[in-house]
Amino acid sequence: MNPEAEQARSSQDLVEDRRSQTSLALILFGPPGSGKGTQAKLLVKTLAIPQISTGDMLREHVRTGNAVGTKVEAKMKAGILVKDEVVNRLVDERLAQPDAARGFILDGYPRTRAQAETLCDLLSGRGADAVVVHLVVDYNVIIARLTGRRQCPVCGTLYNVVSKPPRVAGVCDLDGAALIVRDDDREEVIRERLAAYEKQTRPLIDFFRENGKRLYDVDASHETPEAVSRKILVLIRSHDHS
Ligand code: ADP
Repeated sequence: MNPEAEQARSSQDLVEDRRSQTSLALILFGPPGSGKGTQAKLLVKTLAIPQISTGDMLREHVRTGNAVGTKVEAKMKAGILVKDEVVNRLVDERLAQPDAARGFILDGYPRTRAQAETLCDLLSGRGADAVVVHLVVDYNVIIARLTGRRQCPVCGTLYNVVSKPPRVAGVCDLDGAALIVRDDDREEVIRERLAAYEKQTRPLIDFFRENGKRLYDVDASHETPEAVSRKILVLIRSHDHS
């Protein structure tokens, strides 16, 4: 069977398997630029569970200019983490929505120990089964990806000027909107975001291990997003049957 057909079949099996089981809390973990958002979007299609991205939720609050948005805007622009209580509340509210009952994909959360502790409580409260996928990426690859990143402000699709250019430079393939560079994708801000990751987020790998969460390292430097996604699906599958 060719890889696409095989993936389609195993994805269908996965969706079937999931119907009768506890919900899956798939935690996509890794530095900025490791591809969490890209993987989340691919996996939403095959697993049929929603993506919960704290970065996207926060950007939406900034865009609408509400109280949360005003509070977090300066920190996000500087590449600094926003307060735990703000993101914890957003995630708590989001997980209570009906579409998250059968499972969800967390992208960009948790990022601190306090967030990880809150998440553990939220998961045990709803009997969700956590799988952490750690996307491991070379530092130089991260810098190249983030500085070349462009995003559609309308549909959120991500492009890269080198590795995934749109058909027409600067324009979204899907809706024709002019692509933008995120404020926090400027080089000095990228350095801040990587520093925040090293100091506050990376140590959670030990936290997950100490708390008995399954954690899988996946090399996400060298292969296409689709190939990385296939590897993640295989891991989830082996987790289901173990
Ligand atoms: P990336 O992972 O590429 O840095 P995100 O979109 O996940 O991008 O996050 C962008 C910014 O939003 C972060 O730099 C931070 O300011 C804020 N943010 C997102 N998620 C969290 C979180 N879980 N805790 C604190 N701040 C967050």
